[in-house]
Amino acid sequence: MALLIKPGRDPAENWMKAIAKELPDLEMRAWPEAGNRTEVEYLIANSLPPGEFATFPNLKFVASTSAGVDRLLDDPDFPADVPIVRSINVQRTATMCAWVCYHVIRHHRHFDQYRENQAAKLWQHLRYTAPDSVGLGVMGMGTLGGTAARMLKGFMFDVAGWSRTPKTIEGIETFAGTDGFEPFLKRSNIIVSILPGTPETDNLLNRDTLALLPEGAYIVNCGRGNLIDDDALIGAMDRGHIAGAALDVFKTEPLPPDHPFWSHPKVTVTPHYSSNGGARHGVGVIVDNIRRDRAGQPFTNIVDKALGY
Ligand code: NDP
Repeated sequence: MALLIKPGRDPAENWMKAIAKELPDLEMRAWPEAGNRTEVEYLIANSLPPGEFATFPNLKFVASTSAGVDRLLDDPDFPADVPIVRSINVQRTATMCAWVCYHVIRHHRHFDQYRENQAAKLWQHLRYTAPDSVGLGVMGMGTLGGTAARMLKGFMFDVAGWSRTPKTIEGIETFAGTDGFEPFLKRSNIIVSILPGTPETDNLLNRDTLALLPEGAYIVNCGRGNLIDDDALIGAMDRGHIAGAALDVFKTEPLPPDHPFWSHPKVTVTPHYSSNGGARHGVGVIVDNIRRDRAGQPFTNIVDKALGY
């Protein structure tokens, strides 16, 4: 019985090395050398080419290499009875939070403008708003959003969080569900979204909801690109209602060359690069579940397929 690895950014050797330290007796194979496919019980992958899942009849779980499982769930060939193990990776959380804090602070402290002022040899202090007067709203208060919210609180922003189910977090105002969305938006001068891509999060930021944000609000999105109605965001920026956006994820990736985000002066684009979780920090949850399987215990950290995350 074997583990097959179809790696993400980190090569299969790195996954194998990290897993072999914990489970030296486990047979491991690297995609596309799957060997006898009936022997593959565990699969590490973010996606497989069309039709491939059906060729592995004895899968016990698929462990996602990405925190977002939309690609697996969108695959019509994904076997309905096979659980998906969530990706949990402290390196991803750290790098994602650094990306978020960087863009929030870059906007809040006008660092783009200071760069331009330097080029013009202009020594000038720009208007400064104390961080505790800046309403900072984090959409998605899970592993990533919850950590980012706490870090941003550390920079003294007036942080609030919005999630599907209610939360209680010391020092952070929390909102939940449809009822909580409008008051959450109305207090958010900066929005950070780290939501999953699900049917419920499709175009949540649209013409109507963007209009609820205070004048001059800034958008930071590193969850999924389905969140934003692109035309509505461009319209709101062009009218001056939204000050700008830092975007790492898009409805179509790679972002098509003719997409207006590339050249919009108020948009910062990064190529789905906000976080990076190497194999070394991602094997824990996989090893744990293989050990559980061997001990006849139920799996842990499993994606809720009905919710989509
Ligand atoms: P979690 O599952 O830990 O958290 C998801 C959060 O989103 C939860 O707080 C959940 O609410 C909330 N949520 C989900 N659906 C809704 C909804 N309809 N309305 C309101 N809140 C909702 O996920 P992670 O924090 O690990 O990751 C979040 C997402 O970030 C991933 O799904 C992925 O899409 C994206 N991501 C992007 C990366 C990148 O490189 N750009 C890298 C890694 C992840 P509740 O707490 O109530 O369940």
